[in-house]
Amino acid sequence: MAISNNILSIILFTIGFSCLFVALLIWQKRLVSDVVKPLFLLLIALSWWDLTYAIFWTGLPGPTPYFWLDITYIGVLIVPSAFLVFAIQLSEFQHWLKPSFITALVIEPVLIFILMWTDPWHNLFFGGNRILNSSVILEAGPIFWANIIYSNLLIVVGTVLLIYKFISSSGIFRKQIGIILVGVAIPWISSLILVFGLNPLPNADNTPFSFSVAALAFAYAVLQFRFLEVVPIARDTVVENMQDGVFVLDNQNRLLDLNQAAKKLIGPNTTVKLGDSITRLLENRPEIFKSFINVNEVHQEIQIDDPFPMFLDLQISPLFNQRNFFIGRLIVLRDITKLKQTQFELHQLAITDSLTHIYNRRHFMELAGKELYRSTRYAHKFSIILMDIDFFKQINDTHGHESGDRVLISFADFFKQNIREHDIFARFGGDEFILLLPQTSGEEASAFLERLQNNILISPVALENLEIFISFTAGITEFIQDQDTIETMIKRADQYLYRAKEAGRKGFKVG
Ligand code: GH3
Ligand code: MG
Repeated sequence: MAISNNILSIILFTIGFSCLFVALLIWQKRLVSDVVKPLFLLLIALSWWDLTYAIFWTGLPGPTPYFWLDITYIGVLIVPSAFLVFAIQLSEFQHWLKPSFITALVIEPVLIFILMWTDPWHNLFFGGNRILNSSVILEAGPIFWANIIYSNLLIVVGTVLLIYKFISSSGIFRKQIGIILVGVAIPWISSLILVFGLNPLPNADNTPFSFSVAALAFAYAVLQFRFLEVVPIARDTVVENMQDGVFVLDNQNRLLDLNQAAKKLIGPNTTVKLGDSITRLLENRPEIFKSFINVNEVHQEIQIDDPFPMFLDLQISPLFNQRNFFIGRLIVLRDITKLKQTQFELHQLAITDSLTHIYNRRHFMELAGKELYRSTRYAHKFSIILMDIDFFKQINDTHGHESGDRVLISFADFFKQNIREHDIFARFGGDEFILLLPQTSGEEASAFLERLQNNILISPVALENLEIFISFTAGITEFIQDQDTIETMIKRADQYLYRAKEAGRKGFKVG
């Protein structure tokens, strides 16, 4: 008996120190996460159980006859609770872990521990039948059995959760839970051995040993597959720090989750509570709200004017569970105001002349094409005027290229001030400008131009140190229905312009 007691002690010391070592390893490597916390506690409780039980088997006398056995209970009572919390964390039933639930898990062991130490006064725990030298209790009081039932209940619930998790997960997650389930099976098998009287050491309780092996298997599974914990955390962090506003709604349009950017979009004056109806949260944002209420899948742009003009890219994706039931929607709102601004600026650059900031030739051709189409459709007249500044080369030569630029700018400004909103005015190239007058006959265009030609003669252009006067020559042509294109009209206007130049400039020819 002495040898087997010693062997038992050695085995228990070994496994107890192993649990302690793994627990300290977890602590030292700062691997403590929500899943690891209860596992850490489980390992510490088991190492306590193993080591104090090991001391019991060495025969070392304690202050009271049952001292070493009694203090094993600190570990014994913590194990089921720690295991259950570990199973809850791993099977993602964290919502169970409310303060009241945790308090209950703490109170039960404390209460039992007090009842156990005060047993000599009431005999409710050991029932007055304790046999010295045996640690296996077969006859005991009601509190002892109540605790056995309670502890086993916790372990059964934890096991069921882990089996559920195993069934519902796949791939690498399944492998991890598989290893944990193998660990869980060890105490169960060991209990069966005990129940059927097959225990090789009849007086010794094999539970601490089997639980310790199980916990070491848990630790292996958790630490080996640690990245499984890291990946969701990494995903959460990415979503939380995204510039895009992310909302998760259930199928009743209640808010399940949102990130920082989403909170900003809702507005600082609205308090956000998960579970709130999105209708209430976005009542200050009707533009966003009406775009996605009851739409399951969409990708569109929305414009907001308040508190400042803003463009948002809205993307809605439906969410389905594994059985393909619609369970909610994922809404991503991206602020594309800057992008829109850049697009607008690029477009402006593409359609305007960089010196005079009026339309360029390419954009004129595009707009004129549209006007030709409209005029054909409604049988409207329209006219095109091609203009060229007189003796512009001389201005460049006499006053310098910069002064020439200033003349071009003030010529464009002069026209901008004198034309109608729907007139299309553009720099055609060099010192040539073009003007399209919708719903205007050649005759009306001539009258208009004559007035401007006279006006420009008396409108001085301010150069660096002096003022100069300019003139221009023009060719005017009216649209011929069913015959003209913009190109043929420009060609004709150019011919009239040339003739007007030949005729002495400052005037125009029309046809
Ligand atoms: P005409 O009365 O026959 O039109 O004589 P002109 O001297 O104006 O001759 P033309 O229209 O052929 O000359 C255009 C000149 O405009 C030639 C070119 O050096 C100058 N020019 C073209 N683009 C620019 C520009 O962006 N800035 C300046 N300063 N000059 C330009
Ligand atoms: Mg010229």
